[in-house]
Amino acid sequence: MTTPARYEVFEREFRRLVKRGAELRKLATGCEWAEGPCWFAEHGYVIWSDIPNNRILKWSPGEGMTVFRQPSNYTNGHTRDRQHRLVSCEHGGRRISRTEPDGSVVTVVDNYRGKRLNSPNDVVVKSDGTIWFTDPPYGILSNREGHQADSELGRNYVFRFEPAHNSLSIVADDFDKPNGIAFSPDEKVLYIADTGMSHRSDGPHHIRAFDVGTAGKLEHSRVFAEIDPGMADGFRVDTAGNVWTSAGDGIHVLNPSGTLLGKILVPERAVANCTFGGQERTTLFITATTSLYSIEVAARGAQTP
Ligand code: MG
Repeated sequence: MTTPARYEVFEREFRRLVKRGAELRKLATGCEWAEGPCWFAEHGYVIWSDIPNNRILKWSPGEGMTVFRQPSNYTNGHTRDRQHRLVSCEHGGRRISRTEPDGSVVTVVDNYRGKRLNSPNDVVVKSDGTIWFTDPPYGILSNREGHQADSELGRNYVFRFEPAHNSLSIVADDFDKPNGIAFSPDEKVLYIADTGMSHRSDGPHHIRAFDVGTAGKLEHSRVFAEIDPGMADGFRVDTAGNVWTSAGDGIHVLNPSGTLLGKILVPERAVANCTFGGQERTTLFITATTSLYSIEVAARGAQTP
């Protein structure tokens, strides 16, 4: 199903980032909660998680929607490392896993000093190979998106894993529920969402920005942008440093100063995440509650690969 894209424009520069007359295409539907889109340029497909249904789905122009992996250990966010391997957050396995070239799935990290992780939510790999991820409790709160269990850590940390030394360190310990995570194109700034707000509580619903110091230390914490309506479950950055984030009513585009430039409205209750793909990385794939959408934009995704 294809509909003309609907935008809300707040700043003129937004018009240079989107395409007049672009269409919002609903590529696939039937999910219960769609999250974690990840693009495979060499195969021309996108995968994403349907968390409550414990599966990873795949969409390509030729085949449409097919099942990529089921059961999936309730994966949530995905990314790829510099060796092009799929790196995934698993609620069920309470771990970061990696899919090897032969298809086997191995544990990258599943504990901090002997205590199990909560339920890793979103992940990014830096150019030096370190793996940065958020660890809120959404996957252990109930059996809907994982296996209900107590938190062994008792806190919701943001972690940095260094494969070379097999070492896991806490980079932020003052989040309510850390969630989406992405670097600026030069990797000097790290953006992390806090999605503590729920239908039962007020809590934060913003993205924070940090300067990335030496040895992976995060410095100069500041609130980058409040997200309203909804929350920044996941986001990506374009080559100019603009942040394309999920929100309650669609995709919000923020410039590097945190100014809301405009919105791409999506006709579903909530948008969970997005990623750039397509041959030129100018296709924005959007996971929104039950469906996967795409829209051509005039910006290019910054992530590698
Ligand atoms: Mg998330």
